[in-house]
Amino acid sequence: MAKSGKTEVPIAIIGGGAAGVWQAAALTMLGAREITIVEPNEALGRGLAYSTTNRGHLLNVTADKLDAHPLDGFEGFIPWLERHGLTAEETYFPRKVYGDYIGDVVATIRDRARLSHLRARARSLTPVHGGFRVTLENGDAFHAKQVVLALGNLKPRRLASTQLAGLAEDPWNIPQADMAGAREVVVAGTGLTAIDAVLSVANVSPEARFTLAANRPFMPPSDARNVAWPEAADLRPDRPSRLWRTVIAEIRSNPDLDWIAVVEALKTRTSEFWQGWSQADRATFARHGLRHWLHHRHRTPPPSHQSINQLIAEGRLTLCRGRISDIRKGPAGLALRIGDRDMQADLVINATGPSVDPRDEPLLSSALDDGLITPDPLGLGLKVDASGRSVASDGSSVEGLYILGAWTRGVFFEVVPLPMLRKHAMNIASIASRQASLQTG
Ligand SMILES: Cc1cc2nc3c(=O)[nH]c(=O)nc-3n(C[C@H](O)[C@H](O)[C@H](O)COP(=O)(O)OP(=O)(O)OC[C@H]3O[C@@H](n4cnc5c(N)ncnc54)[C@H](O)[C@@H]3O)c2cc1C
Repeated sequence: MAKSGKTEVPIAIIGGGAAGVWQAAALTMLGAREITIVEPNEALGRGLAYSTTNRGHLLNVTADKLDAHPLDGFEGFIPWLERHGLTAEETYFPRKVYGDYIGDVVATIRDRARLSHLRARARSLTPVHGGFRVTLENGDAFHAKQVVLALGNLKPRRLASTQLAGLAEDPWNIPQADMAGAREVVVAGTGLTAIDAVLSVANVSPEARFTLAANRPFMPPSDARNVAWPEAADLRPDRPSRLWRTVIAEIRSNPDLDWIAVVEALKTRTSEFWQGWSQADRATFARHGLRHWLHHRHRTPPPSHQSINQLIAEGRLTLCRGRISDIRKGPAGLALRIGDRDMQADLVINATGPSVDPRDEPLLSSALDDGLITPDPLGLGLKVDASGRSVASDGSSVEGLYILGAWTRGVFFEVVPLPMLRKHAMNIASIASRQASLQTG
């Protein structure tokens, strides 16, 4: 039942993180007057990335890079920072600050439309005549003529089948008491989430020592280096092999260029390359190049990079090759096996990256059973058409059901940076707003 008391709403956005809020903003720009967001958290817009209150958790790009693809009538991040007396010198702002900003985006949406926030998780989505039935975890249900799924990433797959004291399966919610007492910490994963976890623990436990484990232990480079590669703008690789050959030749001939610089120069173009490739070519890239590409694609904000380097220099952070293959309660804390090593730890954090199995999310599982969504063939997410409409199990686009954000990676490749979210939200809004019901509410 929608908060407004209505059992039928013109459009529901499921997931009220940054993507859900930018979707609502884009819809109001095109005339929507009534929007429902289903989101269990109290604050709309913060989601996973911007809920943190740790001021050491920083935006991984400078503030100026977040304003691309602006929406008319919504204040940009830079003007908002200036209005709040925050100077551009502090360019890698705490993510909390972006969360505060997006709170004001929500306020602007409320000035323009009736925005209902249902504080619940949606548990199932079923097609009904003229729309969808959305059922919430508490059993309440309502009818939405159109639905946008903006669920963000799922949690990682569990490391252990049972709950163990000192094992944090959710890297975003590490119990404070576990962090405070931690001396020997093992983090499964070496990416940005692992870095956030290390900074969280180091903040409250100055004695903690860290081992970061992965099959290919590689920490994302600092965002500070910016080597230009102007020729990148002219590249038109019609196959991944051609892209690879050009990049390797360029790196060999130009001493200033390395993989980090190349990927940086190409990151705004990869979506276009990817969409121009055949499914077979995408599969080749996913099999042979994706991991390497992503290693160089993700960036650490320079201050966080410095903190990590400091821990390494003090001998408090080491990288370890191998996966955790066994974890159990030990004589003191947790006993684990990583590759061929046995280790003890009093805190283990699962930062292995999100699950991409829709069966791990009840809502997606129900939509899968009803044929409303289909996994993309590379296992990167879900199929959508060029406008963001879900592709059904029979291959047709599902009218009125859209997917925004992380789950569309297999189709658009670059999907989670904030400017990309806004761009895709606008595409969805332009189709959704053609339904007359959206303007009248
Ligand atoms: C740690 C981190 C740092 C990042 N930093 C940057 C950055 O500096 N710059 C940048 O451009 N991008 C950054 N990103 C990328 C980020 O993915 C996007 O910027 C954006 O935050 C993604 O928002 P989202 O709404 O898609 O996902 P989320 O933030 O995960 O939000 C999804 C929301 O959906 C809700 N939800 C999920 N399932 C259900 C359900 N069944 N029913 C109801 N609600 C549900 C969740 O409660 C959640 O609030 C970062 C991402 C992470 C994880």
